[in-house]
Amino acid sequence: MSNKAIFMDRDGTLIKDPGYINNPDQVKLLSGTSEALKQFKQMGYKRVIVTNQSGVARGIVSEEVLKQIHERLKKLLAQEGAGVEGIYYCPYHPDGVIEKYRKESENRKPSPGMILAAAKKMDIDLERSWVIGNSYRDIAAGQRAGCKTILINAEFDQTYRKPTDPVPDKQAVNMKEAVNIVKMYDRRSRSAVEKTTSISEDDGPSEHEIRQPDTVPAEQQSRVAQVRAKGGHGEAEASKTNKLLEEMLRHIKEMQREGMFEEFSFAKVVAGIIQAVVLLCLFLSLVFLTDHTKSASSVHTMIGYAIALQLMVIALYMMRDRR
Ligand SMILES: [Mg+2]
Repeated sequence: MSNKAIFMDRDGTLIKDPGYINNPDQVKLLSGTSEALKQFKQMGYKRVIVTNQSGVARGIVSEEVLKQIHERLKKLLAQEGAGVEGIYYCPYHPDGVIEKYRKESENRKPSPGMILAAAKKMDIDLERSWVIGNSYRDIAAGQRAGCKTILINAEFDQTYRKPTDPVPDKQAVNMKEAVNIVKMYDRRSRSAVEKTTSISEDDGPSEHEIRQPDTVPAEQQSRVAQVRAKGGHGEAEASKTNKLLEEMLRHIKEMQREGMFEEFSFAKVVAGIIQAVVLLCLFLSLVFLTDHTKSASSVHTMIGYAIALQLMVIALYMMRDRR
């Protein structure tokens, strides 16, 4: 699977949704659609529209007109220098009035049929792909296909969110924000890969060695000792190996630090407890201030504690964020 893709819903995601569109003249691009599609192309994604069109089964629009609508959509995008690599639609609905289209379909979102068909045809790696849509049906289809998901324009749907609705990976107010989310994700993935590559290059550790860091330093150290014993040309090799060892130790430390903060966020819990104590100190200083039997130094002491503890909270949060 060599390609990655952005699968997008049509109505309310890329174009305005006035209800059932049954005329090409009703196609109006949403602000930011063309720019988003151009950006996705630059980022190396195939762009595929996947849209439920039960209007066909309901007799509101024919497949012939639907094709004209999609031609109109492509034309509008082309005028702005954008485009898509594929448009998949599902004309079926179990309550349709036209018998030919009255049925359940694996292509109808929340089922992932359209996404799976496009992936097969276009050689798409679904794990590296995203589904973007403005309804929970889109998100469910994306998750069932194994893609990452972004729910956009979600205000309406949030109101009617059912407990059984899926939780998207990300939410965005519009396509522009969705582009930024994907961009940021790609950047992070790239830097993670580069980090690993820089360690595995330099004639050094294999993937196996990185996964089992505990055993590597001892082996490498004995190599260093042997090389040093040879002297001359061996010195250069020993220096290279030392450099490699340092890189590996740094990487191990990073992994340990990430694991510590990711799995439970112990620092966060401690910071929360200390923050509560800070509030208590401030409250006591206020009580002492109004209590004439207490001296000013009691108030100052409480405020002093509050400041010191607050600094600890800030330090803990900074440690947590150092990743
Ligand atoms: Mg929609």
